[in-house]
Amino acid sequence: MRRKFVAGNWKMNTLRQTAVELAGAIAKAIPAAVPKVQVAVCPPCPYLEAVKGAIAGSGVELGAQNAYHEQPGAFTGEIAVAMLGDVGCAWVILGHSERRAILGETDELICRKVAASLRGGLQVILCVGETLAQRQANQTEAVLDSQMAGSLAGIDAAAMDKIVIAYEPVWAIGTGVTATTEQAQSAHAHLRRWLASRYNPQIAAATRILYGGSVKPDNAGSLLGQPDVDGALVGGASLKAADFLAIVRAGESVASV
Ligand code: PEP
Repeated sequence: MRRKFVAGNWKMNTLRQTAVELAGAIAKAIPAAVPKVQVAVCPPCPYLEAVKGAIAGSGVELGAQNAYHEQPGAFTGEIAVAMLGDVGCAWVILGHSERRAILGETDELICRKVAASLRGGLQVILCVGETLAQRQANQTEAVLDSQMAGSLAGIDAAAMDKIVIAYEPVWAIGTGVTATTEQAQSAHAHLRRWLASRYNPQIAAATRILYGGSVKPDNAGSLLGQPDVDGALVGGASLKAADFLAIVRAGESVASV
């Protein structure tokens, strides 16, 4: 059974005080005893340690929004996997469409980052998703196939329990436009078929696939109620504790474990 998972991607938002307040408000509502829905927050790097303090003793886990694949050394401005582990990160988001589109990250680079993160003991939220032009050209499945193949090249089946996939249609990220439940379910089912053919049916059945793209309290229940949608990666709505917690509660209400 796949446990639902809701992760907040704070992107380049908050300052120290707002980060600590937001994390504290979320932590207060998520008890340490294994919550029905797994919850993580991914603040900007400078605030990871402060947020770690704010969520201490709760069931909220800590994630980073990026990592570099090289060992610590002469890579000005980059952040090593070991450093993220050192400040208490359990998770790292990789392959986000903003990093692909704005920072020029390729599947090959993302794959190196996935491998390095796994070697360093982090769990990975690997984002994939098509642009609007690609969807309109009926290329959604081909794009997903190619991003999955490229980002997971050389990653073996044994590592897949440390990886969560996030299907994030680019046209739905930060736009207020959400994929319909049918569009989300169809893409998730396709990703699960891809996992079955690249790995095996057990891996396909066990791997969690989150939906991301304008998830809000009012659409979370129907999206997370889809059979192949195992949670949400939440951007904008994760910056308000009440909205983020409402999404977590929506996940709880449709969770079967
Ligand atoms: C995201 O950035 O991962 C995301 C899903 O953003 P939003 O919820 O704002 O669309």
